[in-house]
Amino acid sequence: MEYLPLFFQLRDRRVLLVGGGKVAVRKARLLTRAGAILTCVCPDIDSELEAMLQRGGGEWRTARYSSSDLEEVTLVVAATPDADVNRQVAEDAGRANIPVNVVDTPELCSFVFPSIVDRSPLVIGITSSARSPVVSRLVRSKIEALIPPAFGRLAEFAGGFRDAVKAAIPTEERRRRFYEKLVHGQVGELVLAGREDDAKVLANELLEASKDVEPVGEVYLIGAGPGDPELLTFKAARLLQEADIVLYDRLVTPEILDMARRDAERIYVGKRRERHAVPQGEINQLLLDLARKGACVARLKGGDPFIFGRGGEEIEKLASHGIPFQVVPGVTAASGCAAYAGIPLTHRDHAQSVRFITGNLKNDRLDLPWAEFTSSQETLVFYMGLQGLETICEQLIGHGRASDTPAALVEQGTTRHQRTLSGTLGTLPGMVKTTEVHAPTLLIIGEVVGLRERLGWFGEATEPGSWPPNAGAEAHPVGWKADV
Ligand code: SAH
Repeated sequence: MEYLPLFFQLRDRRVLLVGGGKVAVRKARLLTRAGAILTCVCPDIDSELEAMLQRGGGEWRTARYSSSDLEEVTLVVAATPDADVNRQVAEDAGRANIPVNVVDTPELCSFVFPSIVDRSPLVIGITSSARSPVVSRLVRSKIEALIPPAFGRLAEFAGGFRDAVKAAIPTEERRRRFYEKLVHGQVGELVLAGREDDAKVLANELLEASKDVEPVGEVYLIGAGPGDPELLTFKAARLLQEADIVLYDRLVTPEILDMARRDAERIYVGKRRERHAVPQGEINQLLLDLARKGACVARLKGGDPFIFGRGGEEIEKLASHGIPFQVVPGVTAASGCAAYAGIPLTHRDHAQSVRFITGNLKNDRLDLPWAEFTSSQETLVFYMGLQGLETICEQLIGHGRASDTPAALVEQGTTRHQRTLSGTLGTLPGMVKTTEVHAPTLLIIGEVVGLRERLGWFGEATEPGSWPPNAGAEAHPVGWKADV
């Protein structure tokens, strides 16, 4: 983050505006909307700006700018057409530790004006960190469409309850939950519909009911999908915003973790193969203890919580102690990786079924019902199969699957780092030995893998999962090597 977004309280503060043309007018409009009192230094002045100064008790100084103009000033904006004057203002302000903005000159600014969505008292500022104001404005128009003006009223309404809520509900956490109920529920709907009086009655009832109730904790077992944050479900995103504590593991990407509430506590319970950071039993216990204390706990898991995710064990423990929970499915690695690597898991002509198998070694062994995996019409997907890859391929060939059966290893599927090694049961183990592979990886075996080649799905997508996968196809020679 290059700039920290802060919101400046400028009411009745003096702001110096150097310059009096059209550009200065635009800034003056914003500054006066925030209640600032302007001092404008310029030889000639735009008539709109002059009127603004008169209305808002501002001052127009016609003398040349001098550093003494900075006295008693909270903020300064330089908007003259003269680069030397602008630079001088920036230098003087820097020396005096006064925040300064020089219009269209980010290198001289200590703050920038964001694009603004004004739903006062709700205000949203957007910046592209001086890269592209056009992109900021595009984002602004999208947000404007998303947030109707009535949201400002909702913020005002909720703000009106501050003192009453503080007096009635003792802890920060319970207060937050009250507000969540307030804005998400019927009260919020009424306010947005313009029925503030009805909303007030209901809100007071809600407050009364929230007074002495001991909070009940809850656990959300959330599937985070395989990596691309856009594969998160709406429900997962919503519950993540509600959780007080987030327990996450290694498969959860930082972008997804970022979607949790900013002040939520984050606890890493990651497990690495052979090195269990936190044993499963302890995780189950931790979930229970936190929920018993009344917290809303999100247990965020890679992929789907019920597919090789041990979600079943966690909810069993919770259920046996009467802790309420919700399970939110996620896109499992098989679906995500296959889709983003151009491999349909089933296909009318090539595979009528698909099987998800754990390739996790137990005591260096893989005891699996190999004889069941021999149909050439079935796609096999091995989770945790990298270590046992050689054994898997050997066993499948040994039990009758053709050694030229297409096979692919998808690495860090659906993320920007996705790579796919594709070969056959006979060749894949050798390929993997000669390349550096980054976990997590998923092994997909079956005729459907060949379709990827036929689609020309070489290289990885500039936009994950899109076709054609890469714009600069010629940079990738045809063949599996193009993928690595
Ligand atoms: N619950 C998860 C699976 C957990 S088991 C799910 O539904 O996807 C962990 C294994 O999942 C990893 O060893 C790997 O085989 C696979 N996996 C998870 N995310 C992956 C990804 N982004 N790319 C490739 N494999 C992945």
